[in-house]
Order: sequence, then structure tokens, then C-alpha cells
Amino acid sequence: MSSIKFGPAGMGPVKKVEKTFERYNKKGIKACEIPFTYQVYIKRKEDATRIRKAAKKFGIELSAHAPYWINLNSEDKEKIKGSEKRILDSCRAGHWLGVKRIVFHAGFYEKNSKEETYLHIKERIIGLQKEIKKNKWNVKLAPETMGKINVFGSAEEIHKLVEETGCYFCIDFAHVLAREKKIDFEKLKRLFPQKSWHCHFSGIEYNEKGEKHHKKTSEKELKELISNLPKEKNITIINESPSPVWDSTLSLKIYNQKIPAFYQHF
Ligand SMILES: [Zn+2]
Repeated sequence: MSSIKFGPAGMGPVKKVEKTFERYNKKGIKACEIPFTYQVYIKRKEDATRIRKAAKKFGIELSAHAPYWINLNSEDKEKIKGSEKRILDSCRAGHWLGVKRIVFHAGFYEKNSKEETYLHIKERIIGLQKEIKKNKWNVKLAPETMGKINVFGSAEEIHKLVEETGCYFCIDFAHVLAREKKIDFEKLKRLFPQKSWHCHFSGIEYNEKGEKHHKKTSEKELKELISNLPKEKNITIINESPSPVWDSTLSLKIYNQKIPAFYQHF
């Protein structure tokens, strides 16, 4: 048994969440990532509970994306503390929301070597996991594969973190493409043999340094992605393009045309 869920990053205003999720449900959207990218904007437990209930009612799997301002490899202790706080704030809200995965950008290489960077980030993830456990939050940290070559987060680095800390992961296919100039699906299957994958996908502009910015997802890119996805996994694909609901609906349309009926029993 396998399944694939498509959904946008973003759920619109909290006030209208029931309507939004109802609309998503009608379109066949089964996932949504709550963007705490600029701040952890859900501060009240009542709001989180309302969102959780609406998601359950309309069959939407929720995840959350922690703020962008995170660098677990900073040389500045205050910046590390701030980064850890932003991740933990996301975890607390995520726990209230019934979110299982907290996606985040782990950090930059700074002046130290890639190996040192890896060790710093690993150590801090282990520390964060202890906090999560202490607070009994039912969430998993999911560091994301990153698109710029000067940013920590190659597929190999994220794989190693999963192996050595037991954290979860987010494969951003657009970032992998921008970083490596191609998506080596066989390599990704090898690095991430897990039964479930949490992924991001959208169109992307990039140059030799990697990612420039996300853009609308083209039908050609979607077809290529969908035909290359492993068939035996539970995959969630969050679209982060400037029109993520439209692109998620387009993804579903392509997926439903393309994949033989027996893969659709989820
Ligand atoms: Zn991200």
C-alpha cells in the first residue's frame, strides 16, 4: 500500500480555516504545511485546536515550517539560542496543531569546514530532541535539503543526520535540482529508504551557486517528478510556488492521469 498527498504551503487566515480546508478537500488536496517561516504566528492553543479539528474533519495532513532565521552552526551563541527557540516554538505550536513534522533550514557553513558544521548541527539537533521529549511534544524535526551550495543541507548531509540522530527529513526536489543541476532519483531512494517521505516541490530559478527563487511549477517538471517518484512509499508533496494551491491541483490532475489505477488504492 502506498499513498501520495499533494498540498500547498499556506492555509490563509486562521479565522477562515474551516472554509479553506473544505475548499482544499473538494480539490482533492490532502496535505497542508503551515508556514511559520516569518514567525510562529499561531500563539493561542484555542486557535491551534480549531485548526487541528478542521484538518481532521476535511482529511488534511498538517506539517509546519519553522522560521527562516535559523542557523544551528552560528559562531554567535545568542544566534544559536534564538535559532533553537524558534524551532522549539514551532514544535510547541506544532504539537497543539497535531503536526507530526517540523521542517526547518538547519544552517550555514560559516567559516568552519563542512565536517565541523555537520557535527555542530548534529549536536544541536540532539539537544533539541531532548527538549521535545522532555515537553512530551509529539513532533519530529525534519531538516530540509537546501538549494544553495553555501548552505548546509545536501541530500547526503540530511541522510547522515537521519542516520545519526533519528530525526526525520524533508526532501525539497527543487532545492536538489538547484544544488546538483539534476535530480538523481535513484540516489535519493538509496539515501532515504524510509517508507514515508515528506517533500517539497515547485519550479525554481537557479545558477551555478544554486537556488535563486521558487517560481510557478511547469507541467513538464511535474510530469517528470511524478513519473520518477518511488511507487511503494507514502509521499507528501508540499508545493511552495507563488501559486501553491493551483500547482497542487495541477499535480493531482497529472498524477491521476499518469499513474495506473492499481497505485491509486490509498
Ligand atoms: Zn524550506
